Amino acid sequence: MGEECLFCKIFAGEIPANVVYKDDTVMAFRDVRPQAPNHILVIPKKHIGMVSGVDEEDVHLLGRMIIAAKKVAEKLGMKSYRLVMNCGGDAGQEVFHIHLHLLGGRKFSWPPG
Ligand code: AMP
Repeated sequence: MGEECLFCKIFAGEIPANVVYKDDTVMAFRDVRPQAPNHILVIPKKHIGMVSGVDEEDVHLLGRMIIAAKKVAEKLGMKSYRLVMNCGGDAGQEVFHIHLHLLGGRKFSWPPG
């Protein structure tokens, strides 16, 4: 665990969050600054700072994150949604514990800005 990591603390329950899913390895909670009517963050328990830091041993964990996102989308009645992972500051990453943004409830444009 990253001792000063915000998302490690949220997983541990040390900082409150609006949790919509949790199991032994991943959890999902509502983003505090939602960019869509439904904006959920899916995080692993394991502290990995950036997508560029994932390893072969994380293959299963990354799959679990997508399965969790799918379950949350179903639970919230989202039929169309976007999944985003920002890697690094220029891509918009602000919290350095990997997370999957699950966004839905409005129409999105492509390509992104
Ligand atoms: P990123 O910019 O990809 O690193 O995404 C980080 C996201 O975390 C942003 O959308 C923030 O609004 C969100 N965020 C930051 N602090 C919290 C928090 N305490 N609870 C929920 N979401 C948060």
